[in-house]
Amino acid sequence: MTTLEEAADTFEGACTCGAIRYRLMSRPLFVHCCHCRWCQRETGSAFALNAMIESDRVKLLAGEPEIVPTPSESGQGQKITRCPRCRVAVWSNYAGAGDAVRFVRVGTLRDPDRLPPDIHIFTASKQPWVVLPPGSPAVAEYYDRRQYWPAESLARRDAMLAKAVTRPA
Ligand SMILES: [Zn+2]
Ligand SMILES: [Zn+2]
Repeated sequence: MTTLEEAADTFEGACTCGAIRYRLMSRPLFVHCCHCRWCQRETGSAFALNAMIESDRVKLLAGEPEIVPTPSESGQGQKITRCPRCRVAVWSNYAGAGDAVRFVRVGTLRDPDRLPPDIHIFTASKQPWVVLPPGSPAVAEYYDRRQYWPAESLARRDAMLAKAVTRPA
């Protein structure tokens, strides 16, 4: 059975206490399963599952999130957006893509099963018990997006960059 959410191709998410609620207004650009040590430490788990999406496609439905500057592997830092009450992280912004792209934590979606990873990255530090499904795209570190992203996502990214250039600072 198709839910309303599935029919509309939107995705709702929330923190654990429910103070922060949000909705992705479309499918994301691409979903990373990151096996780097930084993600392992931040999640306390074996990997992080991040759905990349244009920031203006993330609608805040409830709450006032708190932005926590956090060190990142690049040395440029990232901003992790957390619930001010339960402190669960709902998304982050990295220096590379800036504020235009959010890395939404798939585990905070109401139905995370709808967004399996499009690629596994930094598998060089993957915990050995994690066995990837055969045929799933995987790279030792990072990758060239032109090689892996669907044409539609590349076009969306171009549109986003064009908007960023024309918008007055
Ligand atoms: Zn909360
Ligand atoms: Zn990572």
